[in-house]
Amino acid sequence: MWDKFGRPPTHLAASETFGSQPEITFWAPPSKSQLLEVTSEWKGVHSRLTWEELLDVATSLQVKVSHEDIKTSLKGAQAKLAPRPKGGWSAHIDPDPTPFEQKADTCSPTGRSAFRLAHEFGHIYFSDRRTIPHTPVNSYWHASPYNSAEEEYCDQLAGLALVGPEAAHCETAAEVVYAAQELDVPVAAMINALSVYREHAAGLFHVPTLGYEPQGPVGFWDAPVLREAVDSCTDGVGFSLRVDGKISSIELPSYAAE
Ligand SMILES: [Zn+2]
Repeated sequence: MWDKFGRPPTHLAASETFGSQPEITFWAPPSKSQLLEVTSEWKGVHSRLTWEELLDVATSLQVKVSHEDIKTSLKGAQAKLAPRPKGGWSAHIDPDPTPFEQKADTCSPTGRSAFRLAHEFGHIYFSDRRTIPHTPVNSYWHASPYNSAEEEYCDQLAGLALVGPEAAHCETAAEVVYAAQELDVPVAAMINALSVYREHAAGLFHVPTLGYEPQGPVGFWDAPVLREAVDSCTDGVGFSLRVDGKISSIELPSYAAE
């Protein structure tokens, strides 16, 4: 039996973990309170994790972290998680910004890597990664190895790890950008944290000049409303945010990342 967070029991040799298919209790998809419970265990008395603390979590989860360019071989992927033959995981993190991040984020490569690494932790906690490609747990999802719902809750988990509740009082998109700069995290980390800390918060990104479709995190509800707001962004990069009934949009100046 894995423990309540879905981790392999420490007394079980890692090779057995993958080889003998022990009975596993999964929590997927996790509720918001489960996401909060997992991240607050990582954070301990701190409100948010530093990069060094995140690496400590990686060690406890048997995750070996490396930085490399994987977006070329993996069609734009920002990180890759794979089980190691003798147990544990390897996480390959690409620290380069996506087109959206290039325009919208001022965060450092470390801030970006932290968000990506914490996202991969979500896959370990809440998904069956004994098979390659990994098997999403909910039977409804088994049709596809790529699961956008899973990607969303992994992003939420990563946002919670890097953003403390005291930073979740933002009401406008401009405040979100400012808070992201202050904390040195991607804007996506802020929005995902908000989507858990606040009852009714959702965000939608848009990079119209790069020919991209609106980028996640898409609102879990009310996405059409946000999409309309983001479509009115005519030039440059923007995102819309909805917090507790109020919609706020921002068109980011192109000098943001320069
Ligand atoms: Zn993922």
